[in-house]
Amino acid sequence: MESERFERVMAAIRREAPDRVPWALWGHFPAVSFLKHYSWEKANRDGEELARAHIALLRALDHKMDLLKVTPFYRYMACQWGSRFRWEDNEESPETVEVAVKETDDWGRLWVLDPRKELRENLRAVEILAKELYGMLFIYTIPSPIVQALHGVSNPERVYADMEEQPDALREGLETIAQTCIDFAKECVAEGAAGVFFGIGGGGDIWSRMSREQLEEYALRYDRKVLDALGDIPIKLLHICSNQAENPQRDGGLMEAGWFGNYPVDAINWWDRSFTPLETAKEVYGDRFCLCGGVDHRQTMRHGTPQQVEDEVRTAIEAAGEGGGLIIGPGCTLSQDTPLVNYNAVGRTVERHGSYRR
Ligand SMILES: [Zn+2]
Repeated sequence: MESERFERVMAAIRREAPDRVPWALWGHFPAVSFLKHYSWEKANRDGEELARAHIALLRALDHKMDLLKVTPFYRYMACQWGSRFRWEDNEESPETVEVAVKETDDWGRLWVLDPRKELRENLRAVEILAKELYGMLFIYTIPSPIVQALHGVSNPERVYADMEEQPDALREGLETIAQTCIDFAKECVAEGAAGVFFGIGGGGDIWSRMSREQLEEYALRYDRKVLDALGDIPIKLLHICSNQAENPQRDGGLMEAGWFGNYPVDAINWWDRSFTPLETAKEVYGDRFCLCGGVDHRQTMRHGTPQQVEDEVRTAIEAAGEGGGLIIGPGCTLSQDTPLVNYNAVGRTVERHGSYRR
């Protein structure tokens, strides 16, 4: 029953206990090896390809996933401003050929993208999913303005140089990107998405390269602008991106100091197997956010056995499941070669061990 899955996810989002712990896994589905017939490059210019690959993933599973996080190519807005990427062999991380903002003056040449013109294919994916998922909740990915500026619209060299020398030019660019995010996200919700997966951190380097003051001035400020403008939509899920070397706990202690409480969202997702375990986050953020995590996208999901995945999911439920407010999810996008048996192991484990009815 769709209403059952809907209520399960929304109860967790409200930090209440549903019938059982919900789960969601996400990846670059058009590039996923076991789906075979989809094109990651095509999905970036054809909304139907993007939607079909997500539907195919759901159908390939033995267990029904509770929430679908739609993952387009992260640089989908940058492509419309003129950035170019080299797509090869359905490889999920195409190389950057050219960025739209090469010089400081280029920030002023960006324009607010129209969701029904430049971003229409992304919106078409939303329309198709809303029709074909029959009420299953899904959220669309919106990358933070500073992350888009750093990775795709421009590059770290340009952004960090302008932050020092030409901050007003950079701010103008961030305003344009933020307004594009607002306009597009509102249309996604109008077309049937339950909300947004808002990605900050962009792979992790901002945590070591930006001071807390810079994070507040160039990241949080525009992130809040976008998230506040979306008002009271059902789901705002914040993804706090990191890598093996850089994360917002190791660099500045922000995670456990409660800094992410500044974000007007319902739920947070981060690589809990790498920094700030679920138990700790439940203490710091448990009265504020639903927590989404528990499975290691990098090691266990990709290289582990189904038994290891099951053990990890059970541990997460024991650590943070009590009282509700937990969604089992990965620490970041699953690699395209993550085996299907490990997706299924997550679904099987929440069904067996995630029940709140005792
Ligand atoms: Zn990430």
